[in-house]
Amino acid sequence: MDHISPGNSLNEIARQVKRWREEKGFYTPSQLDKDTLGKLMLVVTEVSEAAEAVREQDRALFTEEIADVFIRLLDITGTMGIDIEKAIARKMNVNAARPFRHKKKLDL
Ligand SMILES: [Mg+2]
Repeated sequence: MDHISPGNSLNEIARQVKRWREEKGFYTPSQLDKDTLGKLMLVVTEVSEAAEAVREQDRALFTEEIADVFIRLLDITGTMGIDIEKAIARKMNVNAARPFRHKKKLDL
């Protein structure tokens, strides 16, 4: 597997995650199906692990678990052929066009 370095694009990391999963025997194609629902639940488990790291006040563990969240998300986007960089840019432009505080009265 190619060495993964900081500075790689999200789409490149998604390709590397896909290759890594293939090499380790975990690759399954993602579509809008039960397999993807399972993968999304794995994202939730990583978020839960990050929450536990906050409770333990362990910044190194928190960083590692947040990285797991991204890796699992990029696994999904990579195997589904989603250009996540384009999708993020498109959505951030949508967000930028929204009114201040989205006219919400309650800050949650
Ligand atoms: Mg983890």
